[in-house]
Amino acid sequence: MAQRTLQDSFSRKVDYLRMSVTDRCDFRCVYCMAEDMTFLPRAQILTLEELYQVASSFVALGTRKIRLTGGEPLVRKGIVELCGRIAALPGLQELCMTTNGSQLGKLAQPLHDAGVKRLNISLDSLQPALFRELTRTGDLAQVIAGIDAAGAAGFTRTKLNCVVMQGRNDGEVADLVQFAIDRGLDISFIEEMPLGHISEHSRRETFFSSEQIRQRLAERFTLLPSTESTSGPSRYWRVAGAADSRIGFISPHSQNFCATCNRVRLTVEGRLLLCLGNEHSVDLKAVLRAHPGQPEKLERAIVESMKIKPWSHDFRLDDQVQVVRFMNMTGG
Ligand code: SAM
Ligand code: SF4
Repeated sequence: MAQRTLQDSFSRKVDYLRMSVTDRCDFRCVYCMAEDMTFLPRAQILTLEELYQVASSFVALGTRKIRLTGGEPLVRKGIVELCGRIAALPGLQELCMTTNGSQLGKLAQPLHDAGVKRLNISLDSLQPALFRELTRTGDLAQVIAGIDAAGAAGFTRTKLNCVVMQGRNDGEVADLVQFAIDRGLDISFIEEMPLGHISEHSRRETFFSSEQIRQRLAERFTLLPSTESTSGPSRYWRVAGAADSRIGFISPHSQNFCATCNRVRLTVEGRLLLCLGNEHSVDLKAVLRAHPGQPEKLERAIVESMKIKPWSHDFRLDDQVQVVRFMNMTGG
């Protein structure tokens, strides 16, 4: 049988799925959530079995990489078993996870044993008080212990993710790079995106561009541009004398990365989002629940959805929210 692949109407091949496995989280990061979040009732979210079925259909349609995210994926009960089942799908090359690291102390080894290949771990500050302020509930020492547990469990090419905000953690970018170098980790700096309405700060005032971050880093390091790409939004650099670490910049505002987009996202409610910055979506939960045990129906809906994948997002820097979803709903 011919290899099946997903392609959108702009001839972009889609072979990467990001799945949100929960909207819940033990942190309340100031750029991601409101302080008093209301989470979804259980009946509205996909069951572990439904999440597995969506993953299975995508892999049957040529998906090579799946990333589990959230919310915080490690607060979902049964997550390790789900990872084991997805990792075993024939044809899948990489199962990855994005996590805040708080549960890795106990779960890094079980996740590695279950077949998770790579982790992205969020880390916005190395100062305990600021870390607590930015996450509202997080404990820095616990997260650093989680990062070290991941290394001890055998994870390699682990990447730190850092959202940089002017006047908050912009002064720490060089320290964060040094932390990554000391542990042989990669690090990506992310410009804050206007997802969900937050009142904690004005996104216009805290905006700090990738170019500004590079200038800060150049005060301490010699940055060497790299041609490496993961067909994702990161642009990579290396630091002279630190061969093991790559420095990435994710710049939705200052650099449009849509032309090479190869990904779609599943919300935990089963909405397939065709673009992070647009509302174009298809309700896969409705298909799953109307046709249980009929993967061909699900696969047809996925193939059809490719027709409405938009060309690009349109993030703007005003505080008027264009996308009302919060990042924890989106599978960032
Ligand atoms: N809880 C996990 C974590 O924090 O890594 C996974 C989910 S979180 C939504 C995924 C990534 O999105 C994190 O690296 C987080 O920093 C980033 N993020 C959340 N809200 C964002 C926003 N408004 N703009 C840019 N990045 C954001
Ligand atoms: Fe939770 Fe991740 Fe959002 Fe922070 S960024 S509140 S850790 S989902």
